[in-house]
Amino acid sequence: MTSYDSHNQGYYQDYVDGKVIPQHRIIMEKHLGRKLHTDEIVHHINGNPKDNRLKNLKVMSRSDHARYHNTGTEMTTLTCPNCHKTFQRPTVRVIWKRKHGQKNFYCSRPCIGEGGGPPKSKPNQKYSDLVRQGLSEGLSGYQISKKYGINKKTVYNHINRMK
Ligand SMILES: [Zn+2]
Ligand SMILES: [Zn+2]
Repeated sequence: MTSYDSHNQGYYQDYVDGKVIPQHRIIMEKHLGRKLHTDEIVHHINGNPKDNRLKNLKVMSRSDHARYHNTGTEMTTLTCPNCHKTFQRPTVRVIWKRKHGQKNFYCSRPCIGEGGGPPKSKPNQKYSDLVRQGLSEGLSGYQISKKYGINKKTVYNHINRMK
């Protein structure tokens, strides 16, 4: 994961199940006996990102962490389009992403998944009209897929979107 951390560079990373995980997060998770939440940052108290002794590690919320460092990093408050929670991201990053076409900012990965994520492809208007028509005729998703030759998954996606 890409933790927002002002000392993002120079820490140790480990491979766990083929994924690269910052070592201090692994150590903290072992210590706590639970998984860290995506909003939890493991902060290095003495500022040395390689010093992973437990007494040098502290769990902070993302916003507390940003406030603690307060390195002049201006934060923008965003609202997650999926769960409507407000959260903060560094303003420079938000501006950069907007410039590159990102319109929706989600608070967490699960929300990206459930909310469909940044627009990959627009729902096809033609398909959604056909699906709508099929539904009004009392057809099931499967029947609509057969009748109009639309991929079944696409049909169900459209149906879900209409709910
Ligand atoms: Zn920190
Ligand atoms: Zn969310």
